[in-house]
Amino acid sequence: MSAPAIGVLALQGDVREHLAMLGDAGAQTLAVRRPAELARVDGLVMPGGESTTIAKLARTFDLFDPLAERLREGMPAFGTCAGMIMLADRIEGGIAGQETFGGLDVVVRRNAFGRQVDSFEADLDVTGFAAPFHALFIRAPWVEKVGRDVSVVATVASGDAAGRIVAVRQGNLLATSFHPEITGDHRFHELFVELVRDTQ
Ligand code: GLN
Repeated sequence: MSAPAIGVLALQGDVREHLAMLGDAGAQTLAVRRPAELARVDGLVMPGGESTTIAKLARTFDLFDPLAERLREGMPAFGTCAGMIMLADRIEGGIAGQETFGGLDVVVRRNAFGRQVDSFEADLDVTGFAAPFHALFIRAPWVEKVGRDVSVVATVASGDAAGRIVAVRQGNLLATSFHPEITGDHRFHELFVELVRDTQ
């Protein structure tokens, strides 16, 4: 079977790390900055960073509308942290007029874990994974509400944020509040490569 072509939105964030993880997981990879590059991919990873900046840069690079259109057409996408915010249909705690690409029927709260909690780590039980996933959160969002067709894939197990939703899936869309590209565990990237393969 040929390897799916998976892009990483390369406007800001851990682009190289995601490209490496996807390559290890069996994808052909491509950094996506222009509409012509977007047209070549079967699926797209949206890294973390700053969602307000990513939205603005996507407008600057004339990528915003083509990307939102591909998502409406069913292109698989995996959003991590700010990427999760960019996939959300609705956000809380955004700046005035903040835009998202949309596609995920969820409400996502930006910087949800509080200002004092800049970053933290937690072991998560993830649906479909045999062992816990060690997750790194950096000024992370959480999912405040999910629509009918959205599956919750992981929640925080303990502490102040116990029960908060930090990973979801809706059809071809996958999103995590945390940064799976940093910790060397390939399981989310493998899951996404598999998901893209299944759509081919
Ligand atoms: N706080 C950032 C935002 O609102 C997300 C942080 C991240 O991606 N690590 O976009």
